[in-house]
Amino acid sequence: MAGVSEARQAAAQRHLADCTLCPHRCGAVRAEAAGRCRVGPVSYIASEMLHLGEERALRPAHAIFFSGCTATCHFCTAARFAFHPTYGVAVTPEQLAGRILQRQAEGARSVCFIGGDPAPHIPFILSTLAAAGARRTIPAVFNSNFYLTAEALDLLDGVIDIYLPDLKFGPALGPGGCGERLGGMPDYWRVVTGCIDRVYQAGGRVIVRHLLMPGHLACCTEPVLRWLAARPGLEVSLLTQYLAPRHVRGELAAPLAADDVVTAQSLAQELGLRLIE
Ligand code: SF4
Repeated sequence: MAGVSEARQAAAQRHLADCTLCPHRCGAVRAEAAGRCRVGPVSYIASEMLHLGEERALRPAHAIFFSGCTATCHFCTAARFAFHPTYGVAVTPEQLAGRILQRQAEGARSVCFIGGDPAPHIPFILSTLAAAGARRTIPAVFNSNFYLTAEALDLLDGVIDIYLPDLKFGPALGPGGCGERLGGMPDYWRVVTGCIDRVYQAGGRVIVRHLLMPGHLACCTEPVLRWLAARPGLEVSLLTQYLAPRHVRGELAAPLAADDVVTAQSLAQELGLRLIE
């Protein structure tokens, strides 16, 4: 697995003093005043485990859930730590590297950096992978909303083995668009599809997840599937297990319609997507 140079780690650490890892571009000095994600200079880990819920190619995965997120999705099932960036425990990169190697010895086939979102934690992730060094033989997976900047992708390039972006919302623009209205991510479609295109064109392995949401077949699912169909090298994981958390009200409190699931699966087949489970 690729190493992480000291220069790359130093470039990542600079974001703790002027953070532009996501398009909110807070420029936060994270030791003094956390940015919009409220992640400070210390990365907290909500949980880590050998996880059987990831895609077949990745599991069992060593899933590492970081606290804090760059999005504010109303229907987040991980709100207890995604919106509480100091939830969990703070460990050193060396300690987490040790746990990765332990999980590898226990049978993990990948190490997945998840959240919340892992973007604010890129400096910590790079230091962790550097500490694990060549003893890590399983691929590093970046499982993210992919609301990233070019600077963030530059830091990940050649270090991450598999990208697992979540293309959740469709292309409608402005405050009424789903990405901004429901996820708090302005300019969502341009940013996220642009980031996916960049890693796709670089030739790496990219598995795009799309979660079906109640009432969002026409505005989100259909345009997402058509966009994916134009990029035949992408693998696609269509998630149909949406369950509204109890705190959710309004459109996303409903269960997913069985008809919508059938329609989405049929469209994915018709478009010839490379579906994986
Ligand atoms: S990762 Fe957090 S601190 Fe950095 S630019 Fe995004 S919201 Fe701001």
